[in-house]
Amino acid sequence: MSKHEFDFIVLGGGSGGIATARRAAKHGARVALIEAGRLGGTCVNVGCVPKKVMWHAADLAHKFADAPGYGFESSSPTLNWNRLVVHREDYIRRLNGIYGRNLDKDGVTVFRGRGRFVDTHTLEVDGERLSAPHILIATGGFPTWPEITGASLGTDSDGFFALDARPERVAVVGSGYIAVELAGVLQALGAQTTLLLRKDHVLKYFDAMLGETLIGHMRDAGIEVVMETPVAELSEDGAGVRVHYATDRAPETFDTLIWAIGRTPNTHGIGLDRVGVEPDAGGYVPVDDYQNTSVEGVYAVGDVTGRAELTPVAIAAGRRLADRLFGGQADRHLDYANIPTVVFSHPPIGSVGLSEAEARERFGDGAVTVYETRFNSLYYGVLEHKVASRMKLVCTGDEERIVGAHVIGDGADEMLQGFAVAVRMGATKRDFDDTVAIHPTSAEEFVTMT
Ligand code: FAD
Ligand code: NDP
Repeated sequence: MSKHEFDFIVLGGGSGGIATARRAAKHGARVALIEAGRLGGTCVNVGCVPKKVMWHAADLAHKFADAPGYGFESSSPTLNWNRLVVHREDYIRRLNGIYGRNLDKDGVTVFRGRGRFVDTHTLEVDGERLSAPHILIATGGFPTWPEITGASLGTDSDGFFALDARPERVAVVGSGYIAVELAGVLQALGAQTTLLLRKDHVLKYFDAMLGETLIGHMRDAGIEVVMETPVAELSEDGAGVRVHYATDRAPETFDTLIWAIGRTPNTHGIGLDRVGVEPDAGGYVPVDDYQNTSVEGVYAVGDVTGRAELTPVAIAAGRRLADRLFGGQADRHLDYANIPTVVFSHPPIGSVGLSEAEARERFGDGAVTVYETRFNSLYYGVLEHKVASRMKLVCTGDEERIVGAHVIGDGADEMLQGFAVAVRMGATKRDFDDTVAIHPTSAEEFVTMT
């Protein structure tokens, strides 16, 4: 067995692992990165990137449907799902290549295979032993499946991206980001779509206004949203998968059922027991504010830590860790407050900071002021159907510092980043009032609320 010595070993070549490895190498560290699958991890291969391509396709479908209202006389084009998938996967392959070349350019040595701890400073991969004083766990996660009879007759978000034809009738189970995003895409691209919720809401971690509004829009668009109906069992049916419910709702058959009920961290089988790192009850690796695990020299970033499971969070935490370990920036670490996020639903949602309920709980009812607006954007002026936008600013104290900004509506995805800077800088309602609007946009409503 050959042995290799490094300053830093990164286990996992996804968003967090690659960003950390490259930043450490740029600081002059000798870095190894171990990846078992395709470079880029979840985000590039079965996450953000293919999802956003599908979201753009769905957005186009909505635009084609609206085109007659804008005077276009041709009928809607038909979708060749398979061609869309081929173009999407070509793009992803190009990204995989770019990631490999960038690692190479920065001098990171990539080992292919499943890595596993031997001891605190040593990892084993495909018959090689690598050692370093600093080791990063960036192994991400995978879709969670329920433990019910017949669950394997369904699929998950990875399986959604593997579909080479559009299902005619599809059920999506779950209430989080992935469930509402995939349901929106499937419906827009022509599948008869049912969203199965075990409770009466979607997006429970967001301001309640966002989920409530989205459910209305999903229903208006033709998605059947079924509440308080847990799935009890799946069985085979010649025509597809038969879904049996834990309520008195009659069983139904779908071509495809997609589980979108959360993700499970990749900590099993990587030898954490040999190092003394104890995963928490959910299997996540606990870390402190500096991404340190309980064992000196072993760190973790990204989804495997269970904190704000978003690509830019994994990247930011990893780069700051590398700056701290190899860049002489002793206090560098990620501040997890005010992380902006977008749900690529139809229409999209943008959110930063505290929900109204969180702010009331933290500061007390008397200290919280809320500004809200509901409007139809100018785009719908010439159309018969409307998809209303809603916004909310959550403020606290006499100075009305903005501690939460939430929006659902067309353009929300591109609107939020700049407002997130303002919230992070401690902007007040007065600062928003004093900012001149950009007209005619939806974003201007954020600075004209009374
Ligand atoms: P990952 O990207 O999962 O990378 C972990 C890597 O480690 C993988 O490549 C895996 O193969 C490798 N690995 C695991 N174990 C081993 C081992 N033992 N040896 C070697 N290699 C190993 N986030 C956003 O910010 N915006 C979005 O729009 C968005 N959309 C998403 C859509 C979907 C459908 C999904 C599933 C996720 C989405 N996310 C999105 C979340 C985002 O993908 C993750 O937060 C991000 O990928 C986390 O990065 P990571 O580096 O922690 O883990
Ligand atoms: P989420 O954690 O967002 O949501 C899953 C939800 O599904 C749970 O909160 C729960 O909500 C519901 N649920 C759990 N078990 C069941 C069950 N057995 N039956 C029915 N519903 C169930 O998970 P996702 O899988 O959607 O996404 C994982 C993470 O990936 C996200 O949290 C996010 O961090 C990231 N992501 C980010 C995206 C983006 O940035 N745009 C897009 C996609 C993913 P309840 O208790 O209300 O029923």
